[in-house]
Amino acid sequence: MRPFNHLHYFSNQLDKTPDITSVLHFMDHLPIAIYACDSSGYIIYFNTAAEKLWGRTPVTGQDQWCGSFKLLSTNGVPLASADSPVAIALKGEISPDGEEVIMERPDGEKLNIQVHPMPVYDEEKNLTHIISTLVDLTEQRKGEAKQAMLAAIIESSDDAIVSKNLNGIVTSWNIGAERMFGFKEEEMIGKPILTIIPFDYRQDELMILSKIRNNERVEHYETYRLTKSGSLIPVSLTISPIKNKNGVIIGASKIARNISKQKEAEKNLQQNAENLETMNNLGKLISQTLDIDKILQNVTDATTQSIGAKFGAFFYNIINDRNEEYTLYTLSGAPKEAFENPGMPGNTAVFNPTFASKRVIRINDITKDERYGKNAPLYGMPNGHLPVVSYLAVPVVSKDGTVIGGLFYGHPEPGIFTKEHEDLVSAIAVQAAIALDNAKLYEEVRQLSEKKDEFISQASHELKTPITSLSGFLQLIDSTLETDDQNKDFIKIALKQVKKLSDLVSDLLDVSKLEGGKLPLSFTHFDLVHLTREVVNQFQYSVKSHTIELSFKQDNLFIYADRQRIEQVIINLLSNAVKYSPRANIVKVEVHKENNGAVLAVEDFGIGIKDELLEHIFSRFYRVADLANQPGLGIGLYICKEIIHRHNGHIYVKSKPAEGSIFWFDIPIEQKS
Ligand code: ADP
Repeated sequence: MRPFNHLHYFSNQLDKTPDITSVLHFMDHLPIAIYACDSSGYIIYFNTAAEKLWGRTPVTGQDQWCGSFKLLSTNGVPLASADSPVAIALKGEISPDGEEVIMERPDGEKLNIQVHPMPVYDEEKNLTHIISTLVDLTEQRKGEAKQAMLAAIIESSDDAIVSKNLNGIVTSWNIGAERMFGFKEEEMIGKPILTIIPFDYRQDELMILSKIRNNERVEHYETYRLTKSGSLIPVSLTISPIKNKNGVIIGASKIARNISKQKEAEKNLQQNAENLETMNNLGKLISQTLDIDKILQNVTDATTQSIGAKFGAFFYNIINDRNEEYTLYTLSGAPKEAFENPGMPGNTAVFNPTFASKRVIRINDITKDERYGKNAPLYGMPNGHLPVVSYLAVPVVSKDGTVIGGLFYGHPEPGIFTKEHEDLVSAIAVQAAIALDNAKLYEEVRQLSEKKDEFISQASHELKTPITSLSGFLQLIDSTLETDDQNKDFIKIALKQVKKLSDLVSDLLDVSKLEGGKLPLSFTHFDLVHLTREVVNQFQYSVKSHTIELSFKQDNLFIYADRQRIEQVIINLLSNAVKYSPRANIVKVEVHKENNGAVLAVEDFGIGIKDELLEHIFSRFYRVADLANQPGLGIGLYICKEIIHRHNGHIYVKSKPAEGSIFWFDIPIEQKS
């Protein structure tokens, strides 16, 4: 079809008019681009619309065939002017009427142009001119490309993209929708969208349609939709109104995204967070205790709950004498009688592998398992036994590889336990095994320590009697000897050694009494100043290497305490002061009252103690390693500390290596009753 019929009229006029341009000037300001070439192709006329389209002004009589800056074919290949539609038309070849080319302007902009060359003949039928109209299709082509792109996007989208009218009737249905809901386009077009809305979610549609009518968008609305096969899928919907050219809402476009994976991931994430929390809480709980009962009960309770089991139990890997039943230790979710009557799980084909193979056993329906029901005499679950169908058993394996026991879970419905449950319980079983190992070690250490205390107590008791009789007989011999008897000196030495032995044994006895909380204290009122003076005098009598300097801030300091035990503390501190200051010759003792307490300090100028050892020296049997040549058992300060604590007091030390130490204690003057 020729686009402008009036041109025919003009062409007829032109045939009769020698000056073609004077006729064409009539078209100067027409909105359609027109130009004319003579029979040689030289442009002889163009109107303003053509000039605007080309973006340049051709030189008439000079530019040939086309006024465009550059010419390209629609597939982007450069086209010589001589191959332009007008040039071809001039050659009289097949008229390329309506051929589309791309014209490039000097500024680089490219336009899609449809060219309509119209040949003009003279009366002898000679071709005299070509009058060409140019139709700009650029916008149309852009629109088409956009349309095609949008269609491709919609078709290739994984999301379901559908549209419906305001009555909820489907008007378009992409491939994504076909894949997601299982309905083909032809099955859905013209059908109500309710087809894919589950009955329980129909109010969704009313809400959505009312929003659309109010020109509102619905964004990321999470709901469920029905597939052709009848399954429900979680979707996130974004729905927007569709308007016609006049802005009237005529329907809605709907993008549905399948969020099953996201939901699954969310569920997993939540499950993981819960598992972590369970493990964390349980870890804390079981690391805080060395009590096996508590550890096992906590583990069984927490795991039974987290995996949704009906029953959970821990069985020790210990079989009874008759080689029949494992030892049930803890139980969760059921009374213990459920196992005791009619009986514990035996050494059966189902139960035994947990201990033997050290592997997790998870069974969806144990009653269908081939190992089930093989054992005499019951061949299956006895009447009254917990109705276990889903079964999960996780061994608890010690560091050395021995199976300590197993965690067993049951549920009366099939398929309850998942791989995640298995993993969670396995992780907890590792923690439990460590806690149980530690508890066992602790128990062993405790028992050993108890045995040691028992031995010390018994040994010191046994030693006490012969030492007492030895000392008695030596004193008897001593009294029978003449003063100038040579043997008298030996007896004196023997008596001194026996006294040392007796003191050591007494200290040991005190330790075992203190440990058992059986050191009796006998409180009386006495003067601490007086006692200290007495003890120091006596001590000085047997110690010649050091001078004990006494200083008192008052003449008397009456306290209510166990006189003998306080004396024991003073002697201990004095002995240490002398023993650990071999190069010094002075020890200072000082007593004073401070607030409501009595303070006694013993200061020496000896070897001192390193800072990092200070916290240990009051512990039982602790001795500084590099002093092994000094005699002692490492119990003196321990006894002092215990005695002072029993008086509601404190004992302190300040020391500097190579300078000396000061030990002091304070005790309340009166004991609160
Ligand atoms: P023992 O003297 O029998 O070793 P003690 O319990 O009395 O046991 O003392 C514990 C440790 O404290 C000693 O082995 C010694 O290393 C250190 N100690 C105690 N008193 C002094 C002191 N006055 N000077 C330096 N070290 C001391």
